[in-house]
Amino acid sequence: MKYLSTRGDVTPRGFSDILLEGLAPDGGLYLPASYPRIDAATLARWRGLRYADLAFEILSLYIADIPAADLKRLCEATYTEAIFGTPQITPLKKLDDGLFLQALSNGPTLAFKDMAMQLLGHLFEYELARRGEELKILGPTSGDTGSAAESAMRGKRGVRVVILSPKGRMSPFQQAQMFSLTDANIHNIAIEGVFDDCQDIVKAVSNDLKFKRRYKIGTVNSINWARLLAQVVYYFAGYFHATKSNDEKVSFAVPSGNFGNICAGHVARRMGLPIHKLVLATNENDVLDEFFRTGTYRVRASAETHETSSPSMDISKASNFERFVFDLLGHDSAAAVRTRELFGAALARDGGFTLRPAEFAAAAGFGFVSGRSTHADRLATIRSTFERCGVMIDTHTADGLKVARAHQEAGVPMIVLETALAAKFAATIVEATGREPQRPAALRGIESLPKRYTVMAADARAVQRYIETHCAA
Ligand SMILES: *Cc1c(COP(=O)(O)O)cnc(C)c1O
Repeated sequence: MKYLSTRGDVTPRGFSDILLEGLAPDGGLYLPASYPRIDAATLARWRGLRYADLAFEILSLYIADIPAADLKRLCEATYTEAIFGTPQITPLKKLDDGLFLQALSNGPTLAFKDMAMQLLGHLFEYELARRGEELKILGPTSGDTGSAAESAMRGKRGVRVVILSPKGRMSPFQQAQMFSLTDANIHNIAIEGVFDDCQDIVKAVSNDLKFKRRYKIGTVNSINWARLLAQVVYYFAGYFHATKSNDEKVSFAVPSGNFGNICAGHVARRMGLPIHKLVLATNENDVLDEFFRTGTYRVRASAETHETSSPSMDISKASNFERFVFDLLGHDSAAAVRTRELFGAALARDGGFTLRPAEFAAAAGFGFVSGRSTHADRLATIRSTFERCGVMIDTHTADGLKVARAHQEAGVPMIVLETALAAKFAATIVEATGREPQRPAALRGIESLPKRYTVMAADARAVQRYIETHCAA
């Protein structure tokens, strides 16, 4: 399997070549040259597999440059009951007839990002050892991504993680999750500023190409293809849990921000998984809902981006969306020319674009529908789910469930992806139900653990000096 860029660079690259990369050199995103189609016999065989074996089968179709025995070992090491809480890894919880939650948030940081990030930790360690290289991952976080990355990379050889977070702006729980890690390869820097300051510093350091090369700086952001690929697996697992035979269809509802999670569902559907609808849910930041209703993609300015009670979906620009548009336009060289025009020139010039009617008409064939949810919807959905089903859901999952109900169809099971546990967003849960959400035993009392972090002004040079003195190769 070779990979190409959504903007036309067709230099042949294998999985290992793009594993540690961000954007393609032409500014596009990497995608496989084509999606492998799963035939009926294969789908029937996969139905009986354990999660780790299913992951191995799916990853094998996209990874030609890691020996099978090694890849199998990495999958086995990642998807264990010890890390994800149950032998099924992503079990379904029934809410109503035909309506299910798929548990994706029982990993170490209580959000679905662990599903992919834990695998990435093993893949990075493996690939860096194979090359005899080291890598420093520098990233900004407002909470979830940073803790998922640190949890996945802690103790891994060849990798150091430096995460910048806005000082005092994460919840006490999130601070405790990150700052209590004592592994030597984990570095937390609390920046005196807001999330945007952290992001600007990472950009400034990454744009200093000499520094970047000398200190081998990389990222693990949501455009990483390996992360997306790891997420494809749980769509298959969810389908098998919800159905008895492969002539049935299911729909998935996905709380969306950067379009990473639902893009994995799109890939699963392209591979032939019988998915009826992919239901995209946004919060008040409804860039993507607007696109699927109108064909217009309009990026918002930071000032237009609302701070909501489902903060991991507060995005103004969906970084993975370009992958879908490239597929919508035909996944070929003509599509690459048009994608380059839309996501390069048009976005820079007009802050967005509107697809031609014939281009947008194709979207219906890809199974997408969408909707949006507000703070009031979240509260009502959390409350009614607790009262009627005895299940506490988090605010992001509530957005998914609210929109899912509007798109339910008789005879088609609807699976709502649970993207975080309620315990992570306790304040809103208390507002909705009057009760504190339960926290998994392993995380009780983490706020009182000793914390290790460095406070720094919002100054890229200071961060560079920190890397020079603390992370020298
Ligand atoms: C990251 C995140 C999302 C959004 O996922 P995307 O892949 O960016 O669409 C939704 N919910 C939670 C809890 C998250 O952490």
